[in-house]
Amino acid sequence: MSDRKRTVIKIGSSLLANEQTLQLRYAFLSALMQDIRVLRDQGRDVVLMSSGAVALGLNAVECEPGACSLLDKQAAAAIGQPLLINAYKNIAAEHNFDIAQILITLDDMEGRRRFINIKNTIERLFENGIMPIVNENDTITTEELRVGDNDRLASAIAHMIKADEFIMLTSVDGLYDRDPAEPGAQFVSELHDVSQYLEGAASKSALGSGGMLTKLIAANMAQHSGCTTYLAKGVLERPVTGVLDGSRRHTRCPAIGTPESAWHGWLTNRLHMAGSIVVKQAVADEIIDGPTRHIDQRDILSLTGTFQKGDVLHVYGEDGVEVARGLCSFSAEEVKRLIAHPHDEVMEILGYTARPIIIRKDNMAKLAQTRLSWDETLLEPQVAAQ
Ligand code: GLU
Repeated sequence: MSDRKRTVIKIGSSLLANEQTLQLRYAFLSALMQDIRVLRDQGRDVVLMSSGAVALGLNAVECEPGACSLLDKQAAAAIGQPLLINAYKNIAAEHNFDIAQILITLDDMEGRRRFINIKNTIERLFENGIMPIVNENDTITTEELRVGDNDRLASAIAHMIKADEFIMLTSVDGLYDRDPAEPGAQFVSELHDVSQYLEGAASKSALGSGGMLTKLIAANMAQHSGCTTYLAKGVLERPVTGVLDGSRRHTRCPAIGTPESAWHGWLTNRLHMAGSIVVKQAVADEIIDGPTRHIDQRDILSLTGTFQKGDVLHVYGEDGVEVARGLCSFSAEEVKRLIAHPHDEVMEILGYTARPIIIRKDNMAKLAQTRLSWDETLLEPQVAAQ
């Protein structure tokens, strides 16, 4: 691998589209691309995660933000995405570099093979000095089958390419210890443990899909991928280099550690919950403290989700603490039957021979204590209410 640094930059919709007119904010785009040119000259390979497709297509489908159906948004994204890419392409050419478009769906990230495929494509583009611009493929995704916010998707890309830096530019200058509109709100410039601020971070931006909460979840994921995250306001004056050199205010979430292996990283960096199991507390305690172990038929108390064999499950103890994530060797239906008959052979229950191991130890990654536990209730109001 080359010694160039890797940087993922995520730009929110409100920076790319004017909130009133829903037109492209060309001046910002221009300033951003000029600054990216500086980063490239400093020896960085950059991936740009750009939102804005839906916002920029809303006028053409004659729809107000907040009042559109899924179909309106799918159509808007089909209109807005080429507008966006065309603008990026023209401005990049002015700065003597080229860009490429990568549109991603949830399945592309959650399936190991497709994940590696995207990674290889990005590596190939980097070899030729081309900057990938990534967005979720909103035109073909449905509410249930989408990542929903580009904050977490960008963080997953940062993990995928082993980025050193992950910069989220937004309409606020970083994180405050409470709603910045409240008197006495303090700016947080360095943040190791994002869990401290989850409760106060529930507000959501008018145009985009994320909010401070998805940004904190994204930062936590990046921190555990060995990547330092910066949250800052997208301004016209050196929007990125001003953050990296510390001359402009930002919230920095330093890297905490790197996954034990690429496989462990992939297992833990989930964008969607396929299913979960609750194991006996003694088993959960052993997963945390003991040597690695399989989870078998007798360890499991209950399950949720309609997962398939090969999906990654979230593993909780009886105390509700998530202790691990791991690839399941059976479908949900099969697991249900196996745990209903804990003392019978797999052959008797399912009609074929297999070991009664639901999650193999080499397909399981223990969650670091500093890693946010998966919490649907935290994500739902953010992701579903678009
Ligand atoms: N993918 C959406 C778009 O391009 C934005 C998602 C987000 O705001 O995070 O409009």
